[in-house]
Amino acid sequence: MSHVIYKTLGSRPIRAAGGSGVWLEDHEGRRYLDTCGGVGVSSLGHRHPRITRAAERASRDLAWAHAGAFTSDPAEELAEMLAAWSGGLPHVQFLSGGSEAMELALKVAYQYHAERGDTGRGLVISRRQSYHGSTLAMLAISGNRQRRSVFEPLLGPAEFVSPCYEYRDRLPDESADAYAARLADELEATILRVGADNVAAFTAETVVGSTSGAVPPVPGYLSRVKEVCHRHGVLLVLDEVMAGLGRTGQHFAYLDDSVVPDIVTVGKGLAAGYAPVSAVLIGPHVHQALAAGSGVLQNGQTNVNHTLACAVALEVQRTIVDDDLLGNVRKQGEHLRRSLAERFSGNPAVGDIRGRGLFVGIEFVDPEDGHSPLDGGARLSSAMKRTGLERGVLLYPGHGTVDGETGNHLLLAPPFIAETGDIDEMVARLGEVVDACL
Ligand code: PLP
Repeated sequence: MSHVIYKTLGSRPIRAAGGSGVWLEDHEGRRYLDTCGGVGVSSLGHRHPRITRAAERASRDLAWAHAGAFTSDPAEELAEMLAAWSGGLPHVQFLSGGSEAMELALKVAYQYHAERGDTGRGLVISRRQSYHGSTLAMLAISGNRQRRSVFEPLLGPAEFVSPCYEYRDRLPDESADAYAARLADELEATILRVGADNVAAFTAETVVGSTSGAVPPVPGYLSRVKEVCHRHGVLLVLDEVMAGLGRTGQHFAYLDDSVVPDIVTVGKGLAAGYAPVSAVLIGPHVHQALAAGSGVLQNGQTNVNHTLACAVALEVQRTIVDDDLLGNVRKQGEHLRRSLAERFSGNPAVGDIRGRGLFVGIEFVDPEDGHSPLDGGARLSSAMKRTGLERGVLLYPGHGTVDGETGNHLLLAPPFIAETGDIDEMVARLGEVVDACL
């Protein structure tokens, strides 16, 4: 009997033992081609020699010193690097996971308003079909119904507006620009309905990840919602825990949309799975409000700005730059989407292939009409995952894609180091799994 609590309590997961590059390995030496970085995490693949050396070095130098009294070179250098890439968010704090980063982002948003005497602004507007983390406060602002599940009675108030989901929601005779304007109007109407004086922040995943499968915004959407937010004194908080730090081919996904939010969070790709670390980046005006007010960030956690985690993340980010992995993400991302389109061109159950960089979603549809959501539910997701493992390919399927109930998708988020041959192998193997399961 194992003493470890697993996600599925009655079934023991595969015992991972090693890996190399885009392959993971179990304790019996079976190999799994990683099409999803686990959950969008392993951007440098497995057992990257440069990162394992850096982790060893960092643990010899200094593992941890409490951020209440100390800072460290790795934290300072990593913050400087992220701030320089962010396009205008110069203040950074490191935490341990994406949920914590989002939680701090919203605490900072609330504190920003409170320090300026706007204490009524406690409400967050979020989007349906979103996921921002597993803590109770983050589930409260996550539209993802499966993840809210049993905790629903405990979740605090939040408002929800439509996601930007072009494949399903843009009207046939509507331009992308008109669609973006309609969504921005919906946000503004919601702010006015609940009272702008009550709203602290609007939050969105720049590119939606696990809930609907790599759904990017249409051009102009983010700049329009930012305009609405600022007209009403509401902060724009972008969640790039999954989409950020190279996954879309940019250090920050929003840079492709020509906007800079007031606050952004990053996580998974920051240390690419080599350390548990996330970050919140905040704009100068937000920082200034706190500095000129109480002068204290009202948050303290044991592992803030963790020295070892920052050292590992710093090496991960330097590697991405030194090896021009953003260029590779863009190149291989295009190759991946093109290859998937070719592989599934005659398959009426594949409705949409979308995404940015190496962040790609395949949405399945009812083959009868080629557009209605497929109703495969959790059974289809499990079958795809299981069949993939049996055939040596690690997949990230999802269901409830469209509205929390209907729709099925696959999310691809391969390591940034993937080469053309690896991508071809991924498409071949996942194609076989899809054929077997649909
Ligand atoms: N935000 C987004 C967009 C995510 O995808 C996730 C995790 O999947 C989170 C927040 C929460 O991150 P974590 O699981 O590291 O707490």
